[in-house]
Amino acid sequence: MASAFGHAALGATLGKLLLPDRRHWPYWVAAALCAALPDVDSVGYRLGVPYDSLWGHRGLTHSLLAAAVVAAVGALLGRLTRPGQRPPARRLALLLFLATASHGLLDAMTTGGLGVAFFSPWHPERYFFPFRPIKVSPLSIRGFFGAKGLQVLASEALWVGLPCLLLLGWQQLWTGQRREKPVLR
Ligand SMILES: [Zn+2]
Repeated sequence: MASAFGHAALGATLGKLLLPDRRHWPYWVAAALCAALPDVDSVGYRLGVPYDSLWGHRGLTHSLLAAAVVAAVGALLGRLTRPGQRPPARRLALLLFLATASHGLLDAMTTGGLGVAFFSPWHPERYFFPFRPIKVSPLSIRGFFGAKGLQVLASEALWVGLPCLLLLGWQQLWTGQRREKPVLR
């Protein structure tokens, strides 16, 4: 896996890109949580669930189906918030789907472990992308501290953090330009 920091950074970035209004910041946090959520399967890994099984690490919880379920549940929960503060339901569902699915995309670009079962449960095959620049993060918290964790964070800063910052900068420029554009009469 990429680390929870890398996943959350990409999720929050997607949140800001799709729901740029600052009053929607709780949904940026929700998107960050959704992006880290698929690694809940590491609990099973510690309890002895085989890595390459349906419920194994990078299995069903990392699939596109799981992302769709999270998006549907999240969009339903979103309806509980006050109407004035609620983003459009379809936009919210799209955000939560992309944020959750982004987890598998990052994992498929890491240097270790098994691939990601994007199409589980129908097709249990595990996939990696041909381009895998992100150093794989240790599954244990203890393993994350120390030189290995720093290497993971450095590679995520380059391959996740930097692109996220560039996207947010581009959004800032784009919305700023649109605001400043003189109205033609
Ligand atoms: Zn993962």
